[in-house]
Amino acid sequence: MKILRAPQSVAAWSERLRKEGLTIGFVPTMGALHDGHRSLIRAARLRCDALVVSIFVNPTQFGPTEDLTKYPRPITHDRALCRAEGVDVCFEPTPDAMYPEGCQTIVTVPEIAHRWEGKTRPHHFAGVATVVTKLFGIVRPHVALFGQKDYQQAALIKRLVADLNLGVTIDVRPTIREKDGLAMSSRNRYLSPDDRRAATILYQSFQAGRQAIEAGAKSVSTVECIMAKMVAQESTAHIEYLALCDPASLEPLTQVKGRILLLGAIRIGSVRLIDNMLITR
Ligand code: AMP
Repeated sequence: MKILRAPQSVAAWSERLRKEGLTIGFVPTMGALHDGHRSLIRAARLRCDALVVSIFVNPTQFGPTEDLTKYPRPITHDRALCRAEGVDVCFEPTPDAMYPEGCQTIVTVPEIAHRWEGKTRPHHFAGVATVVTKLFGIVRPHVALFGQKDYQQAALIKRLVADLNLGVTIDVRPTIREKDGLAMSSRNRYLSPDDRRAATILYQSFQAGRQAIEAGAKSVSTVECIMAKMVAQESTAHIEYLALCDPASLEPLTQVKGRILLLGAIRIGSVRLIDNMLITR
């Protein structure tokens, strides 16, 4: 496995492979890799001739009070995981290489970015959209894989690829969970043992929402209420949002029918957890 830090080296590698007619798969990450990332890497390995994983804790998607400096960076572990999964290139750019002096272009996807996550994290999605566009420009992948765990992020990336004619196929893969249902996340390690136990309440609230929908619940507010009551059973959990929305537009639903996305974010102590579940009725 090559470890490349310079964007130019990755671009040159990609150019060479493209000339040979090989397909390039790409999994962008912020490192602290777990089985959720591993599932994307494995799927990419099966789909493509060559595989790039980027590990870059992107400063522009963190707010001023967020966890940029303490975000975990277990690079030895991450490289070992990539090597074991047959990754060809581990791309580890520095912030200076990604954002050299003088750079000023920002990519925004306003309608998707202002909802849900965007309300609490106003600059987050401009940071994500900009870095993903830049990474696509460097790696020039044929296929890029993202997790359904970050549903709004995946929707935003699909939109920006279509809007900017980037010519990258976006493959969104299911959320990988712990045995008790908690969605795997690099941030779960911040949870104290008590908070870790309480954290499953978000997934349980989706299960309760799904059961209510399957049992014929008539109104959106009934289902949202059932989900909120479930979360309220954990006194340390605070709801940021818990909603039924349209899986395509992410707009709040007014009727319980068709394809339904249960979307939620809660805080337990200082840790924010997000998750979602897709249902069809
Ligand atoms: P991150 O390193 O958190 O930026 O995530 C990198 C990629 O891994 C994103 O596409 C995430 O959606 C995806 N991902 C994170 N957690 C999971 C999970 N539990 N299951 C599947 N994909 C995930």
